[in-house]
Amino acid sequence: MKVLVIGSGGREHAMVWKIAQSPLVEGVFCAPGNAGISGQATCVPLKVDDIDGLLDFALKEQIGLTVVGPELPLTLGVVDRFREAGLTIFGATRAAALIEGSKSFSKDLMAKYGVPTAAYGTFTDRDQAVAFIERQGAPIVVKADGLAAGKGVILAATVAEAIAAVESILCEGAFGSAGARVVVEEFLYGEEASFLAFTDGERIVPLASSQDHKAAYDGDTGPNTGGMGAYSPAPVVTPEIHDKIIAQVLKPTIAGMAAEGRPYSSILYAGLMIRDGELKVLEFNARFGDPETQPLLARLKSDIVPVLMACARGDLSGIELEWHDKAAVCVVMAAGGYPGEYARGQAIEGLEAAAAIDNLVVFHAGTTLRDGRVVTNGGRVLGVTGLGTTVAEAIDRAYLGVRAIDWKGVHYRNDIGRKALNR
Ligand code: ATP
Repeated sequence: MKVLVIGSGGREHAMVWKIAQSPLVEGVFCAPGNAGISGQATCVPLKVDDIDGLLDFALKEQIGLTVVGPELPLTLGVVDRFREAGLTIFGATRAAALIEGSKSFSKDLMAKYGVPTAAYGTFTDRDQAVAFIERQGAPIVVKADGLAAGKGVILAATVAEAIAAVESILCEGAFGSAGARVVVEEFLYGEEASFLAFTDGERIVPLASSQDHKAAYDGDTGPNTGGMGAYSPAPVVTPEIHDKIIAQVLKPTIAGMAAEGRPYSSILYAGLMIRDGELKVLEFNARFGDPETQPLLARLKSDIVPVLMACARGDLSGIELEWHDKAAVCVVMAAGGYPGEYARGQAIEGLEAAAAIDNLVVFHAGTTLRDGRVVTNGGRVLGVTGLGTTVAEAIDRAYLGVRAIDWKGVHYRNDIGRKALNR
């Protein structure tokens, strides 16, 4: 079977890497892919939002399974279009992807179906939002309703900062139509974890737990990013918390989506805040996380292709996942300046040396080939992923890889995984 993966980040490289290991697969394509992906797949120069182009390609190449990485094509209805054309595709339908595409929808869903989440209000009117903020006090969180690539969330330390955020989103259109509405939400304290599960709308097949590191610099300081590293498993997700996530979050959410006429058959990502044995949902994503997918797939022992196929066909019965008894840690190496302005086209040194290290995989994100050399082509450039019998060993292995690689201006966090050690 031929498989097409849509996307070009570290998450998609991890998917391509895992899918290419399946004995069921005879060829992998990736649109548009990156320099690392081109080592395991044929890269196709189609953008992730070119739904017509992707559909034509899949029909022409007789692709047996298409796997969608990022949220944008999901919210544009790529899954619906492929299915109408009789193709098998893994991902959330447009209706189901609203759980990520609209924060007010997902908050209202949680409120209606009793899923624990931060207290909130939803506003299109500036004065009403301001009155709510003044009543609640700070710290408080302001979120643009729609997709804003992780930048639409403002953690306001003061009432004035929260009001400024509302004005910039609602009145000045800082996020375009994604900011036609704002969610204003209670500030939550605790430790974050990511929990991903496959579902066919009824059955739930959970993945291992993981934890992302959103802040740019060591000690969770600096601006928020797409994610500077991740590890799996996350010890904050104890067996008791695991059971609570299934019972209090996944089951009611999946049942609620079905009841709302938006049946959910794909991967569901819950971003959680955990404190004193209790949990609250920060957000849902209708896709795999980036960078959580890198350590998760590095640890997954089972062939992923039958799981993706079963999920795409809407029947997960009999599907179970097996994991390597190892921890994995992914350290993101980013371009100097990221998440702000950064340069592209810097030559990356040391990739061969890193490839020779065992229990290490270097997933590419923002890379491309120029005159046969791998150069930087994005903010998050590489996800250097180490495996070890303990988290400490996996951290050492990942940083051994990181130290082998260099380019002008590179930056990364030095403390990925340390929270797991502190427990
Ligand atoms: P991404 O696209 O990066 O996943 P997003 O734009 O969907 O992010 P959220 O996940 O809702 O936004 O928020 C981003 C981050 O902001 C969270 O990971 C968390 O660190 C912080 N955050 C969000 N909501 C709250 C809250 N209510 N209290 C405290 N921190 C929060």
